[in-house]
Amino acid sequence: MSQLGSIEAGSRHDLHVGISPDAPDEAAVGDGGEGAFGYVHSYESSSRYDGPGLRLVLFMSGCLLRCSYCHNPDTWHLKDGTYVSAAQVIGRLGKFAPALRALDGGITISGGEPMVQLAFTRRVLAAAKQMGLHTAIETSGFLGERADESYLSQLDLVLLDIKSGDPDTYRKATGRELAPTLRFAERLAAEGKPVWVRFTLVPGLTDDPENVEKIARFVAPMKNVEWVEVQPFHQLGSFKWRAMGLEYKHADTSPPTPDVVNRVLEQLRAAGCHAR
Ligand code: SF4
Repeated sequence: MSQLGSIEAGSRHDLHVGISPDAPDEAAVGDGGEGAFGYVHSYESSSRYDGPGLRLVLFMSGCLLRCSYCHNPDTWHLKDGTYVSAAQVIGRLGKFAPALRALDGGITISGGEPMVQLAFTRRVLAAAKQMGLHTAIETSGFLGERADESYLSQLDLVLLDIKSGDPDTYRKATGRELAPTLRFAERLAAEGKPVWVRFTLVPGLTDDPENVEKIARFVAPMKNVEWVEVQPFHQLGSFKWRAMGLEYKHADTSPPTPDVVNRVLEQLRAAGCHAR
């Protein structure tokens, strides 16, 4: 059993590796158990980027995708995270709750992938709702079928990463299939759940106009999608790949130029998306 640690304020850009070496494999964790304990990478207490208002962002460990441009490969495995109790996380959240409420914000659970540790994140989200906080998760949607109605009912917003509109490009970028993400998006649309779609623009990988067009046409009819956010690829996470001894395919990839970002934004807007 992993040693119980404490959750520390940090940054998504901090490197965390090998903190809980005997943690289970992330593919084996589901909604079993009561979610009283979980593996966490870190949290940031003052994001203005990951949902409305001021956000506490909790970065969970565990992800089943392997995005070739991932900025946080140290969130892939539970063994790299800190084993903490939900009570400790909820207690910390409670200290920030008055400020988060005053600044029209709340909690965003990101990762990694929040739905790897569904029972744990369910518990934290429920506690956040009881505190009167706005709640969000950032997810690839790959595990969307795990989210039952009670899980979705704890969410005010889903930040849904659609990493590619083309299935082949998605497979190349993530090592997984696109279809589960699209199914989850359709389910959220049918329920009218507010969504911000996020799309990482990676030159030479996801920037093909046909790829962007597939996302644009898929998302545009969805009235629940408030924003499509274009996130330019950057190199802030590249040091993690090197430190972890992983082969990094994007060492020579430059961030997209402002012209390319604008081209993609205009393409999304032309299809009828609210893009920024
Ligand atoms: S889904 Fe997110 S955390 Fe997982 S590999 Fe992709 S970018 Fe990294």
